Amino acid sequence: MAVMVGIDLGTTNSAIARIDEHGRPVVIPNREGKNITPSVIAFSVDPPAVGDEAKELARLGGDDIASYFKPRMGDPHFLLSFHGRDYTATDLSAIILRRLKEDAETSLGEPIDSAVITVPAYFADAQRTATIEAGRRAGLRVSRIINEPTAAALAYGVQKTSIDENILIYDLGGGTFDVTTARVSPEAIEVRSTAGDHDLGGKNWDDRIAMFLSEQFAADTGIDPLDDPIALNEVLVRSEQAKWTLSERTATRVTLQLGTERRTYELTRPQFEIMTSSLLDRTKLLTEEALAAAGLKWGDLAGVLLVGGSTRMPMVRSFVALMSGKPPRVGVNVDEAVALGAAIQAALEIGGEPRDARPKFTLVGSKRIHDVMSHSLGVVAENRDGSAYINDILIPKNTPIPTSRSKSYSHETHRGASRELDLFLTQGESSAPLDCSILGKYVFSAIEPTGERVNIDVQISYDDNGVVRVKAIQRDTGAELPYEVVPVPDDVSWLGRPPAHGEERTPPPMLRIFLLIDVSSSMSGEPLEEAQAAAREFLDKCDFTRAEVGLIAFSNLANLSADASDNPRKVQAAIGRLEADGTTNLSSAIETARERLAASDRRKYMVILTDGYPDAPTAAIDEAKRARDLGIEIVAIGMGEADGEYLRKIASTDEGSIFAHQGELVATFGRIARVIAEGGRGLRKST
Ligand code: AMP
Repeated sequence: MAVMVGIDLGTTNSAIARIDEHGRPVVIPNREGKNITPSVIAFSVDPPAVGDEAKELARLGGDDIASYFKPRMGDPHFLLSFHGRDYTATDLSAIILRRLKEDAETSLGEPIDSAVITVPAYFADAQRTATIEAGRRAGLRVSRIINEPTAAALAYGVQKTSIDENILIYDLGGGTFDVTTARVSPEAIEVRSTAGDHDLGGKNWDDRIAMFLSEQFAADTGIDPLDDPIALNEVLVRSEQAKWTLSERTATRVTLQLGTERRTYELTRPQFEIMTSSLLDRTKLLTEEALAAAGLKWGDLAGVLLVGGSTRMPMVRSFVALMSGKPPRVGVNVDEAVALGAAIQAALEIGGEPRDARPKFTLVGSKRIHDVMSHSLGVVAENRDGSAYINDILIPKNTPIPTSRSKSYSHETHRGASRELDLFLTQGESSAPLDCSILGKYVFSAIEPTGERVNIDVQISYDDNGVVRVKAIQRDTGAELPYEVVPVPDDVSWLGRPPAHGEERTPPPMLRIFLLIDVSSSMSGEPLEEAQAAAREFLDKCDFTRAEVGLIAFSNLANLSADASDNPRKVQAAIGRLEADGTTNLSSAIETARERLAASDRRKYMVILTDGYPDAPTAAIDEAKRARDLGIEIVAIGMGEADGEYLRKIASTDEGSIFAHQGELVATFGRIARVIAEGGRGLRKST
């Protein structure tokens, strides 16, 4: 019988495991004898190097390196080109999977034909489907996709005794953060809720050290490592090593040599913890979101399971101990937990085989898995009065899967002239379709014109793997309608406008945007942290192939913290440096931004964030008018003590004057960035 394995296809590292002859899950070592294979490919050599060798080539500053591609699974716009060939994230993942399979086959001396592969709980349909496809291309039958935290819970479950309890799985890897609550009983592990951030992981901690080092190096030598990709790579590698050392020791020294310049800097663990505290806070917010979704409090948890290499940082362990009142569970290697759990699930998958062929391992044999999806599934529909498109949620998030819902549509046949129904499927929580991801355009055909209007029942399901299935039946004939999934057009901005036909479709504009952030003393502490998180979200949502973004911080004076640039790292570094103190000189900030924007022939925006009334309110209104007269659009976002009336006098449009309550700022900035990228409808005077 061919072997069945469990695979943790990770963002930074991957691992493959099986159930051994004693019924225990074990990791299968790779050709280098290591349990972990870096998810890195180097195309600079032929054939391409995979894993440790590729990571080493990357460390030496080699070209043609592919890494961190997993979060881009299922994204048709993500293409890396090496030696004249384009690779999608699916192609690259298939190369990693093939390597894992080959190494494991060599180690075991047996062929491997099928696998359970894990994915982050927040992976949406396209990413799950792409993972199955990557497995197929690697020569594997993917018997099941399961969520990484579920796999981790299975792995920890092997050691645990049989009592009902609530647990939390805190998974901080290299590039992703994933938090899950689950109820564990003698019979089942039931995932209750999930939350996560696909852009938060160990690399963000590395980035903070890299920024700290680069700034000092630039100040000391005049050479800014951020300007040179090879130098930056060197700084990032040194930063990650420093981070590892700080997990063991309370201080470390880092030497940077760029060209002829060489400097050594000291970094202490407390310094590191301060410079990264907002990252840890972000995990805290998401953890509390997952707890709230399951109706739990920290005190209800019987334990916290740590997964992912970044949970080795002492700050993570003390944070978990502080919040939950007990130390995190131990006993499973944080790098291997997910692969081991996948192997256990793989063994459960062969339940259909004759009894003797089933592995005999204790405790987990009877566990069933109930997963939930962390995204709501819906369709784009017109609202009741036909004045707007809305996201109509059919399956709310955190519904256990598999699950299925139906919705009936009345279709006008126009005496047989209209035999097709278009359906846009969405994943997301917002009622605005553009704030969700559009999974696909489903075109149902062969509708029989049995009347002026016919009813079509559309059934939408999540299967065991969290993959979406769609089916439509014409009610009066009982016939299942054939359908085709066609690519979602690049520009779907019309979904943000009132339903109408024959609208013009224009390419997205080139942009220059300044963020103007209030750093007066009332912003100190949490408000500033939220503002920084919001500004980072803004950058995340910007398309830097079309946008230049700059940052102006204002208190007593306006400070041009970062000039407009298409390098997001420069702005990120400036965001990290913000400190709150002094009063609110908004007029000077607007004047500074106007001077930097006026000469640009791009579409120009100021996005202002303030938490109070400015020092010279009339002067600021005058400055704003001067800027608007030059064709600069102004979005004014208020928080805290800001005055809505006043914001309206600053902004270009009423829709562009926004008050964000605590906790809403990050989402608001993300939305503004997206609306601007899509043409700025509602935010521009001229629209
Ligand atoms: P994973 O994606 O789970 O393999 O986690 C990889 C991440 O864990 C990378 O960002 C590593 O830098 C980080 N990591 C591994 N070991 C340590 C350590 N001892 N201290 C801090 N971070 C670590």
